[in-house]
Amino acid sequence: MDIHFDVTLGESYHSPQQQARVMTEAWAASNMYCVICGAPHLQSLKNNKPVADLLCPKCHNIFELKSHSGPFGGVIADGSYNTMMARLVDDNNPHLFVMEYKRPEYMVENLWIIPKYFFTPEIIIKRLPLGPNAKRAGWTGCNIAWKSIPSKGKIPIIKRGDVIDPQIVCEKVAATATLATTKINARGWLMDVLYCVEKLEKEDFSLQDVYGYTDYLQKRHQDNHNVQPKIRQQLQVLRDKGYLEFLGGGKYRIKR
Ligand SMILES: [Zn+2]
Repeated sequence: MDIHFDVTLGESYHSPQQQARVMTEAWAASNMYCVICGAPHLQSLKNNKPVADLLCPKCHNIFELKSHSGPFGGVIADGSYNTMMARLVDDNNPHLFVMEYKRPEYMVENLWIIPKYFFTPEIIIKRLPLGPNAKRAGWTGCNIAWKSIPSKGKIPIIKRGDVIDPQIVCEKVAATATLATTKINARGWLMDVLYCVEKLEKEDFSLQDVYGYTDYLQKRHQDNHNVQPKIRQQLQVLRDKGYLEFLGGGKYRIKR
């Protein structure tokens, strides 16, 4: 894998954004493998959509690429809010490659894969609709609050310019597959409780520790008025999926 872009591709474009888009998309199409099944190449899906989609010819999973010059902030700008929500509900959203590249060197600095089942309605933030004078007046985009995704769901492929062994990447992705759930409401709770457990940054923790996030979770799930029972339920789900061990007496341990 060569982490450098083909800069000749950008020469016929004026804006740095367009140059970057062409170069990053071409880079992914010629360098990325399928992190789900390990197939060595992905195919670029040429179309008019404002997103870069890639298809695995073997397992038919679809990937979208989002790239940024330098570090992404807390959110990743995405396309239409309604389209995103509809795709989530239909369990039809792509897996996401998140790329941070260096300019003017034009090389990949960081690249992560976020498997599609880590996306929940809670991390999709509606933007303000475009004003009446805009070309697409009324159109509403969205931001992905990717920092609220559990770290298990942000799997590095390239880290500070170092390419991680594809086999390790594929194993890490495969290890998250038990978290996949098509029920979108259940998914939101599961990912949010997992996020809180990770935030504790300890292997052994107590129910009281997780209860410390009651307000955080209540804000994210305003229709639910039984947050603490929900926390207990989700800890059971995480145990059943092999992520946690129950030690008894309200004590838990994260499995390695
Ligand atoms: Zn594949």
